[in-house]
Amino acid sequence: MREIGHFIGGKEVKGASGRFGDVFNPATGEVQAKVALASKAEVEKAIVNAQAAFPAWAAVNPQRRARVMFKFLELIQDEYDDLARLLSSEHGKTFADSKGDIQRGLEVVEFACGIPHLMKGEFSEGAGPGIDLYSFRQPLGVVAGITPFNFPAMIPLLKCAPAIACGNTFILKPSERDPSVPMRIAELFIKAGLPEGVLNVVNGDKEAVDAQLTDARVKAIGFVGSSAIAEYIYATGTAHGKRVQCFGGAKNHMIVMPDADMDQAVDALIGAGYGSAGERCMAVSVAVPVGKKTADTLVQKLIPRVEGLKIGPATDPQIDYGPLVTRELLNKVRDYIDSGVKEGAKLVVDGRDFKLQGFENGNFIGGCLFDEVKPDMKIYKEEIFGPVLSVVRAKDYEEAVRLPSEHDYGNGVAIFTRDGDTARDFTSRVQVGMVGVNFAIPVPLSYYTFGGWKRSGFGDLNQHGPDAIRFYTKTKTVTARWPSGTKEGAEFVIPTMR
Ligand code: NAD
Repeated sequence: MREIGHFIGGKEVKGASGRFGDVFNPATGEVQAKVALASKAEVEKAIVNAQAAFPAWAAVNPQRRARVMFKFLELIQDEYDDLARLLSSEHGKTFADSKGDIQRGLEVVEFACGIPHLMKGEFSEGAGPGIDLYSFRQPLGVVAGITPFNFPAMIPLLKCAPAIACGNTFILKPSERDPSVPMRIAELFIKAGLPEGVLNVVNGDKEAVDAQLTDARVKAIGFVGSSAIAEYIYATGTAHGKRVQCFGGAKNHMIVMPDADMDQAVDALIGAGYGSAGERCMAVSVAVPVGKKTADTLVQKLIPRVEGLKIGPATDPQIDYGPLVTRELLNKVRDYIDSGVKEGAKLVVDGRDFKLQGFENGNFIGGCLFDEVKPDMKIYKEEIFGPVLSVVRAKDYEEAVRLPSEHDYGNGVAIFTRDGDTARDFTSRVQVGMVGVNFAIPVPLSYYTFGGWKRSGFGDLNQHGPDAIRFYTKTKTVTARWPSGTKEGAEFVIPTMR
């Protein structure tokens, strides 16, 4: 059985804790590899390596640090397809979707290539007599990233590329469900010229995370995952004096106005609701048609499309989505569907009995569509993270603005309309961090920031874009007087630039 260790000090090392996790093939349910689960001592070894590498890496000029990013982009092109296949084999998403996962990560690396410009400071000549005032950014030291299973290429890259480009050294704790791609990313960075110890990967579970949260040598932590863990990491990390940003779960609504292009809205809901089996933090899980006529038309158009979804293993190029990542998640999704039925929502498409010949032990589930979902139901309040779309009928536009605004989560939201006034009013008033207008999955590009509100995001700064540079650096401000010889005697009042 293949064994996946850790990546410390520039090379893969075997796990020493004696604890391992199973990495499944989600299409067959078989264990395909064992991943080492790091002990506190192994995490500390990674921290020591990262700390030792920091001074020299921070001293490398930003243009040279950018060159490593450029080289990495070049190297990854040679194995793009292999990497995408590896990603699909552990996650279960389609080959095309895995390529998209990698591509979105590479776009953050491209952003990080601009680090010489992004880290430029400010300078005010003559702020006082012979006095210049300037500020610049310096890296923090050892920083860490804890990432979820659902984007095993994009999110590790989104965390480590800006951090490393800023001159920090990095410890990545990827998801134990699909650790192979993050390990390969670390190898490629070394091949691209990153010095040993600058990027380390420790595989593991809570033990590996806790070891980082409480260690004073780790200066900042970026987390992406479910909200309960995000809250725990935010509270523990900040209590230990760290800079922390955590991005959590979601319940993304898509408002469909009566004037919307209905076919376009249906296409958008099918892609955003069921793509990647709904295992996306920006998946649309709630459709909000406004008015009875819009709702009836929408549901009638959605039913055959959900029934017609093609589901199978990622190796089949014809499929729309693959299996869920684990049996545990499959059972959880099934429980949510049962609870929706019990609470009185109308399950108009029931995918629970979906079976695929030859893949009876795979984590497959057919697309499910609920109508008449009410805001007090569990399937509305909680994140399901499966191919389940809930239709919540709004009587008017005001109710449609209120629903996502009052929901606990506030990651993404979209409105489909042909009316500019409505779209503008909605984008201004809705209490959600990322908004799409006739665009169902409004994930900002890497040069803008990405982050949700309310229980979807904890901390002050978002990820990637300019916020990433702020998060991974601290600002130093210098007041300098040249020539230095002016004799003024001792000043007992606060200095001013009179
Ligand atoms: P998860 O919270 O189970 O795991 C995320 C990370 O936390 C993993 O590395 C895991 O090993 C670690 N972890 C798990 N339990 C822990 C514990 N008790 N203590 C410390 N660490 C722990 O999330 P997941 O199932 O891997 O990913 C799916 C979730 O991530 C969904 O809720 C999804 O919405 C969210 N997500 C959010 C965003 C965003 O940007 N907001 C992006 C992608 C995914």
